[in-house]
This record gives sequence, C-alpha cells and structure tokens, in this order.
Amino acid sequence: MKYALSAILVAFRFGWCNSIRRFGTFSWCEDTLLGDTMNGDNSSPLPRVQNGEEPGFVSYAVRENVAWVMLERPEVANTQNLRLLNQLDDLFRCAIDDTEVKVIVLGGRGKHFSAGHDLGTPERDKHMERERKHLWPSHLGPVGAESQYVLEQDAYLGLCRRWQEMPKPMIAMVQGGCIAGGLMLAWVCDLIIASDDAFFQDPVLRMGIPGVEYFAHAFELPPRVAKELLLLGDRMPADRAYQLGMVNRVVPRDQLEKEVESIANEVADRPGFGMMLTKQAINHVEDLRGKRTSMDSVFHMHHLAHAHNQLTSDHIVGGLDAKAMAAANKPKK
Ligand code: ZN
Repeated sequence: MKYALSAILVAFRFGWCNSIRRFGTFSWCEDTLLGDTMNGDNSSPLPRVQNGEEPGFVSYAVRENVAWVMLERPEVANTQNLRLLNQLDDLFRCAIDDTEVKVIVLGGRGKHFSAGHDLGTPERDKHMERERKHLWPSHLGPVGAESQYVLEQDAYLGLCRRWQEMPKPMIAMVQGGCIAGGLMLAWVCDLIIASDDAFFQDPVLRMGIPGVEYFAHAFELPPRVAKELLLLGDRMPADRAYQLGMVNRVVPRDQLEKEVESIANEVADRPGFGMMLTKQAINHVEDLRGKRTSMDSVFHMHHLAHAHNQLTSDHIVGGLDAKAMAAANKPKK
C-alpha cells in the first residue's frame, strides 16, 4: 500500500504538467531538495511521464546555469529500476541540449543517495521491454547467460560509460548510503561532494560477484583499499573516502545542498568548451592507464559469476534478494 501510494504521488507530482518549466527564480531549500516535501514545481520534461505512461522516477529542474537531476524514489532509498536509468539518460540529454545549462548536479531525494539496483521493489521492471540506448538486443528474448549480459551491456555498463563521457561537468551530491549501483552513479560524476553522514559500499561479493558492473574500484581507490572495499563489503565513511581522494569535499548534512550549489555556480562560470576538453583530457588519461580495458575484462568476470550463480543456485545473484542483502549490510556493532 505504501509503495502504491508513493507511486501514485510520484506520478501525480511529475505527470501533470505538459510544459518544460524553467526555474530562473526558483527558490530551493533543504526540504525541497533533500527532504520529502513536495512543492509541485518539479515537472518532468519527458513526454511519457507527462502523459502518465510512466511514473516520474527522476526530477529535473534548471536554476541559473545548473541542471538539478534528482532521483525520486526516497521510499526505497532511490534504488534504480530500469525505467529510472532510462529517465536519467533522457534528462541528461535535456541538459546537454540546453545551451543555458553549463553544469549538471546529480542527487537523490531523501535519506540516501542510492541503495543500488532494484532487486525487488514493487516497481522493479526487469520483466518489461525497455528502450535500449545502444545496439544490444532485447534481454527478454535470450535464455541462459545471454539475457543478463545484453541487459547489463546496455543499461549498466553502456549507460554509465556514456554518462561519464558527457561533455558537461557533473557533480554528485551524496548523502546517506551510496551502495553498489549507487557507486556507479557517483563515480561517473566529475566531482563528488558528500555530507558527513554519507557512506560508500559495494557488498555484492556476498552474491559471489566481484564488484558492480562499472568496475572503477581500483581507479577510484588505491588497489589494496579497493580489495578491502570488495572483500569486506563494509561501509566506507565519507571522511575516509575524502582522505583517499575519492570524494572532493565533505560537509555537514545541512550544508550539502548549499555547498554543491556554490561549487556548481562557480564551475558554471568557466568556458563551456574548455570544460568539455578538460573532462575529456582526464578521461583520456584514465583510459590510457587502462580503465576502459580493465573494466571490459572485469565485466566478463562479473558475468562469469552471474552464470555460475545460475548454474549452482538457479539465480543470478545467488538467491540473495534485497531483504537478505539489507540484513547482511547492517553495520557491525
Ligand atoms: Zn550484474
């Protein structure tokens, strides 16, 4: 009931307006961005959301030269179903096409940034046909290992890579949990600003899987720390992530939005083409260091693990559902 009500509210909140709104004078506050207050102004520019064909899982607003893209599933810790990922991609396209937008902020409404891919909420949509963003076949036809492989090539690895290569800078605004697939969203951003209650975690080894699909672990962290993150699967607090260079700044929770806004406005003042080239320069250095090729090779290990799970437990994640993972993820006393 709670989920149904939330879905209705989200559909209502983002589905009723038929025009793309711009918020040059829009007034933000802690409640509107990170809290659960609904102000009715965050209409979606996506026609299928406006038409009510799909709930709005992501909101989009432009203030000055910054596009604020917010995950809108706070009732399930912003877990990512496939429609949410496609909406993200479409809204990033809006931000790229809007010449007034210089910087993108990616955040999540509510207590947590994102608890990862959707393993079992009522709006999980793996059974549904989806618009593919790359030239991979539908995951609904193939059997065996092929189905998950083509799905993840398109929706996970493919989208994350494309987002990391976007020509405009993107800032992750991270509070609370940033777990597994949540890491993927933070890592594709150019800057990560975290609140002091944020934590970072990849616990998928519990499922027999060597890390999430976008395997940037050993580029984001020193190799031994990356092994610790994966082998123990513990929560890495924001201050440690900052010390290791994975996070740019850590601020008190109640100052997170203000700090992100200040940095975004500062960055937005730089020449757009210069920023485009700067992003590509650093991305190019990372690729020369082997990021792309190592990610490709680990993606296939990831799928060997999915296939192994299917053979041994008839379940790609070893029979662990969201509830079991959440129970296992409780911090140690
Ligand atoms: Zn996977």
